[in-house]
Amino acid sequence: PQGPELLGVSRLVAGYGAEPVLHGINLKIRQGEMVALLGANGAGKSTLMRVLSGLHPAQSGGVHLNGEVLNTMPAEKIAGRGVVLVPEGRQVFPELSVLDNIRLGGFLHAEDREARVQGMLERFPRLRERQHQRAGLLSGGEQQMLALARGLMAKPRVLLLDEPSLGLAPKIIAELFEVLDQLRREDMTILLVDQMAALALALADRAYVIEGGRVVAQGTADEIRANVDLANAYLGNA
Ligand code: ATP
Repeated sequence: PQGPELLGVSRLVAGYGAEPVLHGINLKIRQGEMVALLGANGAGKSTLMRVLSGLHPAQSGGVHLNGEVLNTMPAEKIAGRGVVLVPEGRQVFPELSVLDNIRLGGFLHAEDREARVQGMLERFPRLRERQHQRAGLLSGGEQQMLALARGLMAKPRVLLLDEPSLGLAPKIIAELFEVLDQLRREDMTILLVDQMAALALALADRAYVIEGGRVVAQGTADEIRANVDLANAYLGNA
């Protein structure tokens, strides 16, 4: 996609104590792009996702959506602008039904919520089958689909996916990436963090590589794959 920039991050610094975790991150995502964020454990990927969605403050620098400054807004307002995080660890409400978990994702959009809930049940047949069960009874893969459905209910303009495949069996990961591919074909704008870097790159238009809270490489998926050092470090080609 060669559309206009939708989400921009400029010179973003953030952390948890005196020493920042993110040391001046710059990145941009165009409308309709899928961008992969690669990097070892502890590189700062989750921290970046949390800052983008307003769950963690920036120390300096900015996050912009269509030119509007986001990082001074509370998280709910950022979600209302359409920057929606599907967090690591899924975090469904285990005591609530599958259906109620999906509904909750649409709390900012009551007007067409029920119709969109039905749309999610069509997109995720496994959730339809289990719609009246407690979410805590679902398998890990089903809970991840539920977390995704809940995120989609929030009408994302940018979907932030943090480690969606974590802890899932290979067959389920393949199903999950099918769903992500479908979203990509629908021109959803997506920032994807996933340890399955080769799979993530296979779908992504572009990628950023983060080490120690800094962007150390960026490029098209083909460029990242063609870079021997990056491929060895992140794609398991060693
Ligand atoms: P992972 O894949 O392990 O989640 P990551 O790239 O997402 O890695 P972050 O989770 O953003 O990395 O963590 C970056 C650094 O910030 C790590 O050194 C981590 O220990 C530290 N960190 C993360 N969360 C907190 C917190 N709540 N309080 C203090 N330090 C934290």
